[in-house]
Amino acid sequence: MARVIFGMSNSLEIIDVTPRDGLQNEPVIFSIGEKLELISRSIETGISRIEAASFVNPKKVPQMANPEQLLDKLSIKKKAKYSGLVLNERGYKRAVDSKCDEITFVIVASDEFSLRNQGMTTAQSIEYISKLLKNREAGIKVCISIAAAFGCPFEGVVRPSQVIEIAEKCLDLCPDEISLADTIGVAIPKDVKEKVEPLISLYSNTPVRLHLHNTRNTAISNAWTAFELGVKRFDASFGGIGGCPFAPNATGNVAIEDLVYLFERSGFDTGVDLDASIKVAEWLSGQVKHPLPSALLAAGDFKI
Ligand code: ZN
Repeated sequence: MARVIFGMSNSLEIIDVTPRDGLQNEPVIFSIGEKLELISRSIETGISRIEAASFVNPKKVPQMANPEQLLDKLSIKKKAKYSGLVLNERGYKRAVDSKCDEITFVIVASDEFSLRNQGMTTAQSIEYISKLLKNREAGIKVCISIAAAFGCPFEGVVRPSQVIEIAEKCLDLCPDEISLADTIGVAIPKDVKEKVEPLISLYSNTPVRLHLHNTRNTAISNAWTAFELGVKRFDASFGGIGGCPFAPNATGNVAIEDLVYLFERSGFDTGVDLDASIKVAEWLSGQVKHPLPSALLAAGDFKI
């Protein structure tokens, strides 16, 4: 049963990024029908927010082709809020036309990574998004995600002051939410504290979301540290599926079922059913035809 400890509120939200971050590096390409089945299984676990698509060039990321078709089918059954990831103006227009509930803009914290990923520096990227948001579409929520906020595969360490400076500029654009992403999975709890704490204390009106990869087995401890600091929104994927094109051998996002086990067993309400989420991870592993790294998928729940 949920209870309040440490003065923290007793609930948190898990955002399922399996259809986007989870699948974008998989050699097996899911059809629209298979993605709809994945999303429908996700909703059955209790998930109510899903990063469903990415509006990028399908030649570069064939796994993310035809997001319009997917969103169109999803809008028929409105059982969850669906978001789309956007890197540029063309992607933004496509996302708006697709009637996404939420749009996530990506700002990369380091210039070298930003240039390789979006073809512009971090500062240029903020300026670019600021222009796009001048005529912001009513009714669509906007999240700004700061990628590589904990480390860059090209420039190395990303300093807390660098992240806070970028976050301040992003918050000037009045997003509904700001996210820090450990894109290559290097963060430890100390880094989370140094970057999340000032963000929360300085800008408490804008909810902070965390995007963690478990590449170095620190995602769960990072999530707990962030939760103690007041973060209530976490990206995760079933089975911990996923990778990162810029970090060879990187494992995926923190697993949904691992987060559910940690938080529910600690007395907090995730709204997600653990047994059901393990079943989705099992199913997904069968679909992609390889094992997935989540601990709960391997060990199962502990019931006495
Ligand atoms: Zn990611």
